[in-house]
Amino acid sequence: MTVHLRPRPLADRAVREFKMFIDGQHVSGSDGRTMDRVGPAHGVVVSRYHVASTKDADRAIAAARRAFDEGDWPRRTAADRARVLLRAAEIIEARADEIALLDTLESGKPISQAKGEIAGSVDIWRYAAALARDLHGESYNTLGDGTLGVVLREAIGVVSIITPWNFPFLIVSQKLPFALAAGCTCVVKPSELTSGSTLLLGEILTQAGLPAGAVNIIAGTGAEAGAPLTSHPDVDMVSFTGSTGIGKLTMSNAAATLKKVSLELGGKNPQVVFPDADLEAFVDAAVFGAYFNAGECCNAGSRLILHADIADEVVARIAELSRQVRVGDPLDPTTKVGAIISTAHLDKIASYVDGATRAGATVYVGGGPLDLGAGQFMAPTILTGVLPDMAVAREEVFGPVLSVLTFGTTEEAINIANAIDYGLSASVWSRDIDTCLAIGRRVRAGTVWVNTFMDGASELPFGGYRQSGLGRELGRHAVEDYTETKTLNLHIGARTNWWVPRT
Ligand code: NDP
Repeated sequence: MTVHLRPRPLADRAVREFKMFIDGQHVSGSDGRTMDRVGPAHGVVVSRYHVASTKDADRAIAAARRAFDEGDWPRRTAADRARVLLRAAEIIEARADEIALLDTLESGKPISQAKGEIAGSVDIWRYAAALARDLHGESYNTLGDGTLGVVLREAIGVVSIITPWNFPFLIVSQKLPFALAAGCTCVVKPSELTSGSTLLLGEILTQAGLPAGAVNIIAGTGAEAGAPLTSHPDVDMVSFTGSTGIGKLTMSNAAATLKKVSLELGGKNPQVVFPDADLEAFVDAAVFGAYFNAGECCNAGSRLILHADIADEVVARIAELSRQVRVGDPLDPTTKVGAIISTAHLDKIASYVDGATRAGATVYVGGGPLDLGAGQFMAPTILTGVLPDMAVAREEVFGPVLSVLTFGTTEEAINIANAIDYGLSASVWSRDIDTCLAIGRRVRAGTVWVNTFMDGASELPFGGYRQSGLGRELGRHAVEDYTETKTLNLHIGARTNWWVPRT
């Protein structure tokens, strides 16, 4: 029996108000507009943001440009930059409960999960600090007596960072500390639905010793505040996480000035399961992969590709576990699945389920929205009889909806896994190393888990093949992504003239 936890009213909680952060100052927008965020679980206003017009976006870019061209952040030693990042990590850690609560109230995610995300973010800020000191180029002393080649890594310049609502603090932490480690200056625009924890970073970074203008944070809509960050000639690079559609728009906006673009986009990630797998471990991973963050996760394991011999048994076991998942009040520490980000998004999820049943799939568990008295929630849902060409098997639902497909041979499993436009992540479950390697090497995805799902570490690169994105975050290359490569070609001694022989 699914456990539903009705959200309790938020007693006497003052609405938190956030200004933007431009050139080291907490400021209102130039036209004085504000925007209220109604919490998706509680149905009441939880935050108020001062929002940016295009003019404010331009001010933020100008501040970042000045800080890069004239300020000391890019010119400080790596040791100095690392000290600021480490101090920021300490402050984030000290304020972890406050940041987690903000993310929970604004996004509807379970508080226990939000706390885990902030702890993970602290680790990333520390890792970026370590990488700052290890950023270096190369030298070539092998080019003959007359030449020394030095390859420099230089900060790329002003970076726009645009983030979504599903992991508000974690995703900005996968970008910002690496850009700062490289010596870049930044303009950050979080989602209009979950801007609070990112706006808090202005205060945190000032306290950590970051100079004014090195990071500027603006709130507002994508069309008004986000778009200028992707096209402005003074921006050198855009780092974006969100939908594939806006990712493509970002790339085309950036093309006019040939900005570098890093994109983390959608996924439709397969879990491929063979009969010799540890099924008990897999069943738990299936439930985790599908319902974690209410399925609002680019890494969600939303496509199960089960060997036909075990499909019935495995689906029955996943269904049993699905019915026990605790859904509801995200402030209850035992909740595993919280609210859906918006009513429009809940409608989108429900319409995918309806479309799948019309196309011939069967609802095995769940199937629709839950009425818990406040906010918007979706029942954990399993769809069986899904065929590879159905929309629910190919497109990102971004909700707690699991599609079950079956296969007969390894070749068939690989073909089904690869037969979509996305390529973010995948997993294989088998005790046979040959099977694991066949899937691991031939499935086209940026991450393939073997006998586990959605594990990660700051050291491990993350990103997608094909329409799941461009570039990689985390790992030791993350800092290099925010650099330009420059060759210094040094001539030693007398140069041999091209035309006039030397006398
Ligand atoms: P979007 O891609 O619309 O939003 C991501 C970010 O881009 C937000 O900050 C948004 O601002 C901003 N943005 C929107 N339009 C523009 C623009 N023209 N120029 C610059 N920035 C812009 O994702 P949604 O939040 O609307 O989610 C829609 C779908 O995207 C989901 O259903 C899911 O399938 C997918 N998604 C994937 C994510 C991932 O992690 N890969 C994360 C979130 C969503 P604002 O929203 O404030 O207008």
